[in-house]
Amino acid sequence: MTFLDDFQAHVDAIATLVPSDVAQVAAMSDDDALRFMDLSAALRKHGDRFSVIAAGVVASRSSRDAGHGGLAQGRGHRNAVALVQEVAGTSRGEAARQVRLGQSLLETAQTEGPDVADAPDVPVAVPWHAPLDRALLDGALTSAQMDAITRGLGAPPEGAEEAWRLAAEQLVTAVSEYTVEDLAATARAVRDRLDPEGAEERFLARYEARGFRMWTDAHGGKHARLDFDDEGAAWVQSLIAAGLRPRLGGPRFVDSEEAAKAQSLVEDPRSNEQLQYDLLMDALRAGALADAEQVFGARQPGVRLVSVLEDSKPGPGHTEDGGHSLPAPAIEQAICNTGYTPVTVDACGNPLDVGREQRLFTPKQRIALAVRDGGCMWHGCGMPASYCEAHHDRGILLCRFHHMNLHHHGHRITRERGGPFVLHPPGGEPVPLHSRSPLRWMWDPPPRAVQSPGLSAAIAATASISTSWSS
Ligand SMILES: [Zn+2]
Ligand SMILES: [Zn+2]
Repeated sequence: MTFLDDFQAHVDAIATLVPSDVAQVAAMSDDDALRFMDLSAALRKHGDRFSVIAAGVVASRSSRDAGHGGLAQGRGHRNAVALVQEVAGTSRGEAARQVRLGQSLLETAQTEGPDVADAPDVPVAVPWHAPLDRALLDGALTSAQMDAITRGLGAPPEGAEEAWRLAAEQLVTAVSEYTVEDLAATARAVRDRLDPEGAEERFLARYEARGFRMWTDAHGGKHARLDFDDEGAAWVQSLIAAGLRPRLGGPRFVDSEEAAKAQSLVEDPRSNEQLQYDLLMDALRAGALADAEQVFGARQPGVRLVSVLEDSKPGPGHTEDGGHSLPAPAIEQAICNTGYTPVTVDACGNPLDVGREQRLFTPKQRIALAVRDGGCMWHGCGMPASYCEAHHDRGILLCRFHHMNLHHHGHRITRERGGPFVLHPPGGEPVPLHSRSPLRWMWDPPPRAVQSPGLSAAIAATASISTSWSS
């Protein structure tokens, strides 16, 4: 067992360095103190590895099938995690992590052990996480790093084991570049790249699970809980980041008025939690009154998404801040709504050209769309125009829910010259969509009215419509 030799070497090294009591350690030279820290960290890693292996063995002997005859159960514990937790004196989460990783190690060891070598005719599938297990044993990974990668990548979909194994190998070589948190996020991003369908499923599952709930406790205090979808979360994070930038060490303001505002925020006696709460309430109020400038001043929050074109269509993308991945339909929906800026890069990623911002519709054109469509055009939806997003080059107005539904579930909307918009549900009958504007009869007359020359004249006379808006 080479890792035992390695362990012994570290113990010997630390024994020559460290005298027997703490007072003498405290008197060490700087160089020795650093070396002491180094060796201690290495020993910790060794200990960590032993714990993981032991936890795996305990778990394999305490399976649910083993019932009361199981190792942990026989000693009065519910399961292996409870036993590990008691023996190691760790949190439940840490014990669960050790069991998880230990089981993974054993699974790989069983495909590489001597029994397997003796029976070469029996094909054995090497688990996708084998590179991680080996790296943990070789000391190239800590158990925290291994857990971040394992959970970030998740189990591969059927038939993708090889791709997952390669991804695991690559992540192992890059661990020193990341914090454990970033490693988990990177592993999730890799997973979503490798499995765009699964990524979209997870995206939609989180969207499906979105929710807001308020309740009153026994003393009359009000509380709330928010379960975010990906885009909603990115939006709120960017809103908070924009509002609290001076506190979170953001860029300095050049404008003296802005700088003074930033300084007063730094000195504000409110806690970050209180500031975030006040910011959210301000944003809600401003949203209700539609005046964002009053809340955010010159720096309005927004989420920038990055996507690579595949066959001149946007592929899956990620948020510029945080690198959270998003499926292609979410990118397309954002392009509909807010436009995009094309960036051309060379083979090394160096920017060659940054194009002009492309917007499908200006705020003024949006007013015209509201006059035309009168609100969400989806059949049976009552959302008013100011809540809608403009879809595609015709700018048909759809509420956020229906716009999302359209992009993610394979619906299409077409319009023949002069005819109505038509919704084509996947595998269903086409549904004509009608404007909800009070003025709709002027350009979409009811069949009988078309026959009446008098009404046609009236339509022509009122063809110029005026609308007013503030600012
Ligand atoms: Zn759209
Ligand atoms: Zn709608």
